[in-house]
Amino acid sequence: MSQSCLPRLPSRKIFGVDVATLSKSEALDVIVDGLRTSRSINVAFANANLLLKARRDPLLQRQLGGMLVLNDGVGVDIASRILYGKGFPENLNGTDLTPELLKRLPKRTPVFLYGSRPAVVCRAAEILRQKYQSEICGVCDGYCDNPDVAVDAIKRAHAKVVLVALGNPKQEQWMSEKVSACGVLALGVGGYLDVETGRVKRPPRWLRTAKCEWLFRITQEPSRLWRRYTIEVIWFLAAVALDRIAVSSPWGRLRREL
Ligand code: UDP
Repeated sequence: MSQSCLPRLPSRKIFGVDVATLSKSEALDVIVDGLRTSRSINVAFANANLLLKARRDPLLQRQLGGMLVLNDGVGVDIASRILYGKGFPENLNGTDLTPELLKRLPKRTPVFLYGSRPAVVCRAAEILRQKYQSEICGVCDGYCDNPDVAVDAIKRAHAKVVLVALGNPKQEQWMSEKVSACGVLALGVGGYLDVETGRVKRPPRWLRTAKCEWLFRITQEPSRLWRRYTIEVIWFLAAVALDRIAVSSPWGRLRREL
């Protein structure tokens, strides 16, 4: 999909990726409006981990350039404070924003679920039908080797919205390469279906308000997540600080003026 599908939005560049500076309701307006006007929009929730991958991978950076990229997590907020002296209006992650979107979709909008384990995606379909009266028109788990299987299923189901739960950067790469063939609105929602089905627990609200959800997530999946939320976040913030120093150096100022 191309950037032209997106309206011009206020944003801040972090590692070459334009991260939109929108409140939750503004982000929902952009997404619902894209759907109303049949614009094919991909939505990515950028946490420190994804931005760090984009920093090392110019192709991923370009792929994200065609999407509505929203800020996910305290690391990205601190990065914005280091680079621009201010944080984002709100924390926007897939797990909180997706239910709000499902509630706001026009009645009978066909929604397709792609990704996560077979039992999770089937159970998630039942839950979303009951909880949000969503019109789930099809599902496909995320462990098939051929990504075109999902594309064919999405087309056959005449989906208008696809929730893509493949983890990052797989879901962003899939959206960038495949979604224009489906002509849908796609959101890379990471572990959202795991949360809805109770396979992954969310922390109590006070821990989320204190911006410490990451601490809770480490206790849930220590072997997969400890490195991401410790060494990688430190590395991410160090790289952001280096960018900040480079930009304010005489050479950085000259480069911006040229
Ligand atoms: N997943 C998948 N196919 C894969 C790898 C992962 O469907 O090849 C799913 C996995 O089952 C889980 C989600 O992707 O439901 C990962 O979400 P999470 O947010 O935990 O990953 P992150 O985006 O944080 O890496």
